[in-house]
Amino acid sequence: MRTIGLIGGMSWESTAVYYRLLNEGARERLGGLHSARLLLYSFDFQEIESYQAQDNWVAAAGRLASAAQALERAGADCLLLCTNTMHKVADQLARATAVPLIHITDSVAAAMATRSLTHPLLLGTRFTMEEDFYLGRLRDQFGVTVVLPEEADRLCVHNMIYDELCIGSVLPDSRVRLLEIVEQAARAGADSVILGCTELGLLLSDGEASLPVLDSCALHVVQALDFALEDDRS
Ligand code: GLU
Repeated sequence: MRTIGLIGGMSWESTAVYYRLLNEGARERLGGLHSARLLLYSFDFQEIESYQAQDNWVAAAGRLASAAQALERAGADCLLLCTNTMHKVADQLARATAVPLIHITDSVAAAMATRSLTHPLLLGTRFTMEEDFYLGRLRDQFGVTVVLPEEADRLCVHNMIYDELCIGSVLPDSRVRLLEIVEQAARAGADSVILGCTELGLLLSDGEASLPVLDSCALHVVQALDFALEDDRS
């Protein structure tokens, strides 16, 4: 079994889900008392969020690159950056180490291809929904064109993430609002919904909306386990 290096804490609410899903997945696949071999570098999210707010992505990339190098030195065989938003600096991160970075967008795209889904609603932070690093990769590398919520709804989802989910508040009213946004996209022709934020799975699960739900956190975990367990079964 290979060792997975997690760059987490963004926020820890979703890193905790990664930790649980990776271990449950290893047990499911291998049986017995098996669990995942993991290394975790967990950031103080206040620091990272400050860089985001100051538009200082260079400093943020530098901090993440140092974490990646620390995980590589500690023995990680691959890296998981446990946030969609910070994939804005994924290229800088990938260049900082020799260890493969399992890109979260590719994990989502792989699941879409398996299920023949082509026209997803994308939900996430405003960075993820409005900049090109995420939807551009889906478009250019996988031929997927996303549907976006309208501006007021994008702001609403963004605020739910930072003001509620990242501090552990999972509010029923927000779930209702999120479902309304999904239903509106379904009427406009979306065939699925990408939870392009690792905390959104705390609010919405597959089966709760009329569209199939693609949870980036859970799909990222599946690809990490595929990589970690590729060569041997123990
Ligand atoms: N975990 C979130 C994501 O997947 C948002 C927090 C962040 O800005 O990293 O985008």
